[in-house]
Amino acid sequence: MEFELNTCSGCMACMNVCPKDAISIIESPEGFILPHIDKDKCVNCGLCEEVCDFKRSEHVGHDMQQAFSLVHHDKQVIERSSSGGAFTALSDIILDKEGVVFGATYDDDFNVIHTIALTVEERDRMRGSKYVQCNSRLSFRDVKKFLADRPVLFVGTPCQCAGLKSYLKKDYDNLFVVDFLCHGVPSNKMFKEHIAYIGKRQKGQPVDYTFRTKKYGWNSSANVITFAELFQNQNSYAKKQRRVQEDSSWLAQAFLTFFAVNLSLRPSCFNCPYRNNHRPSDITIGDFWQIEYLTGKKDKEGVSFVTANSPKGEALLAEVANDVCMKEYTLDQVKFRLPNGATKKPKRYEEFWNTYQNHGYEKVLQEYFDVSNKARIRWEVKKLAKRLKFI
Ligand SMILES: Cc1cc2nc3c(=O)[nH]c(=O)nc-3n(C[C@H](O)[C@H](O)[C@H](O)COP(=O)(O)OP(=O)(O)OC[C@H]3O[C@@H](n4cnc5c(N)ncnc54)[C@H](O)[C@@H]3O)c2cc1C
Repeated sequence: MEFELNTCSGCMACMNVCPKDAISIIESPEGFILPHIDKDKCVNCGLCEEVCDFKRSEHVGHDMQQAFSLVHHDKQVIERSSSGGAFTALSDIILDKEGVVFGATYDDDFNVIHTIALTVEERDRMRGSKYVQCNSRLSFRDVKKFLADRPVLFVGTPCQCAGLKSYLKKDYDNLFVVDFLCHGVPSNKMFKEHIAYIGKRQKGQPVDYTFRTKKYGWNSSANVITFAELFQNQNSYAKKQRRVQEDSSWLAQAFLTFFAVNLSLRPSCFNCPYRNNHRPSDITIGDFWQIEYLTGKKDKEGVSFVTANSPKGEALLAEVANDVCMKEYTLDQVKFRLPNGATKKPKRYEEFWNTYQNHGYEKVLQEYFDVSNKARIRWEVKKLAKRLKFI
């Protein structure tokens, strides 16, 4: 079996299913993960081909049934979530039942990986969208193990959810699968180079990265890089001074911009079979952008878009009712939020990646992002105006 970036989503169901552990993860020159078969270990059983949902003509899952807006009652939860806090509300129910939550976190080196949470503190680290491909590694095997004796909530991209379901082969009453309205995943390698570049400019040690701070309002989507506290003179107590601790400058926004205009997405995202109303999940979550069309007023703090896709999803949503404010809409009313086909490949896509591979990330920044002072000032003024409006 050959794995290619156009037709492999990198969900890693094949690596999870391989009975001989003959499949490992390699990285393409662009920095996207791909399965790799060790021919010496492979016994040609065909399970890796069989488990691949992406390449099938009919995909696992259910059609969306109901749509809601959702806002968590707790203001602190909203502040720390990407949209209205749907993930926190759903995962609280699972943790209350001594279940396990699978979600995306950073490792020490800014790789985004699926990890597990058994406590609220561990779950809180999963909050916040990380706009890069999360590596699921051998999580599907772990899901199966936990399903033997407790409820499991798995949150991932639609392709990861489809991979998990295909790997498990059957449905489990205690498994709740949540995907999101995904428009594609950028390369983790490029993300790490972006952080390293900003760190180099600020002469700081990046320790955290928030893709969407709500400091300037839900709509502003500013990136914030947090640096470790550094001191100008380690030896002199008197002269210890705090350096820049955060960077939400214009240049820090470049990575999110490449994501928003689809330049940094994985090739398979342009062939995505999941960007429609047939979902490989029990519940789908997303941002309820343009909710003002339905409510008549713009929201500044964040509203989640949620759909129940299966009876299990409906039941879990009924359980969060006390913690959130939910309003139901017909699928017709929310048509403008529903996924409508795979993301379109931008015209300069191949050129963008050729520049990256031949000349590196700094050259990409110069050629595909406006690094001029004029652009920076425009951004700073816009940010200030948003901040004043938000206070
Ligand atoms: C790559 C990506 C693309 C997206 N594209 C869109 C879009 O086009 N339109 C839209 O409306 N919404 C999109 N979203 C979803 C949106 O950003 C929010 O994650 C969603 O609204 C949930 O908000 P929340 O307040 O409930 O979640 P939060 O409390 O912020 O939790 C986020 C959840 O997403 C999971 N997660 C974060 N990053 C990743 C990742 N890289 N891979 C897998 N799981 C992850 C976390 O584990 C957590 O469960 C995207 C998210 C990602 C990660």
